[in-house]
Amino acid sequence: MSNERREEAKTLLSRYPYPLFSVTQFPFSPTDEDIACFAKQIRKDIILSTYAAGSGHPGGSLSSTDLLSVLFLDVMRHRSNEPKWSNRDFVIFSKGHVSPLLYALFAETGYIPREKLATFRDFQSPLQGHPSNLWLEPVEVSTGSLGQGLSVGVGLALALKKKQSSQRVFVLCGDGESQEGQIWEAVMSAAHYRLNHLTLIYDYNNLEIDGWVEDVMGIAPVKDKFESFNWHVFETDGHYIPAIREAFAKALQVSDRPAVLVARTSKGKGVSFMENQADWHGKAPNRDQMLQSIDEIEKEDLLQKC
Ligand SMILES: [Mg+2]
Repeated sequence: MSNERREEAKTLLSRYPYPLFSVTQFPFSPTDEDIACFAKQIRKDIILSTYAAGSGHPGGSLSSTDLLSVLFLDVMRHRSNEPKWSNRDFVIFSKGHVSPLLYALFAETGYIPREKLATFRDFQSPLQGHPSNLWLEPVEVSTGSLGQGLSVGVGLALALKKKQSSQRVFVLCGDGESQEGQIWEAVMSAAHYRLNHLTLIYDYNNLEIDGWVEDVMGIAPVKDKFESFNWHVFETDGHYIPAIREAFAKALQVSDRPAVLVARTSKGKGVSFMENQADWHGKAPNRDQMLQSIDEIEKEDLLQKC
């Protein structure tokens, strides 16, 4: 059965044009429509890779899709034909369980063939359940143990600052993840060292594996917390592409301290039965759910402001 799912996913993945853009160096001044088209494909990839594996984390992957689509196409300097390019910016998925999103981003920007997504979580596949830089070259930092990625980002940004490099570090973390004490040690350190080349993308979808974040361990008010730690905070709609672009543009202007995008998002965004459901934190769609998800994603207008 598992192999049948993988074969079917591979066939479905091959239906879409590849690559989406004939560029290997980013950013490339995309239009809002380019980014929306990209995000739509990323969502389909997330559904198909988790369907193929029969496991994985679609909810948080879909929640961060629009933010990371803007980052990969419009903000971050990177080259898919040269993953270790010496002047690249860095991205760290502190919430490493949203690996289906990371692998989809790698596929749609040309780092790996799209059909590879059908091997997600397979034994010996480079697309491990949590990203590993030992298995896949474009992965900068192996993550999965929650709360640790931001600390690595702080160390990296500090090293770059001491080298007077213009390279930037972007870290993605979740709201549930920020219940980890280590996150706040890293937040304190980043402000202390005035790491202006560090940008945190805070996916504020209000849900975590066990339910509503505020029921499990309240974290509000997030904006006030970051500001009290002396970060520059930009709040944004995490699904409206023009707003995300504007928030990143402003964050990159900050020159004296770290910046955070506190992005209001919906877990499972784009698939009706997954949206705002903690149950879809770490569960794969069955065949009917996969087909319905693809259908809904294809019909969604991502440039329609909610
Ligand atoms: Mg969350």
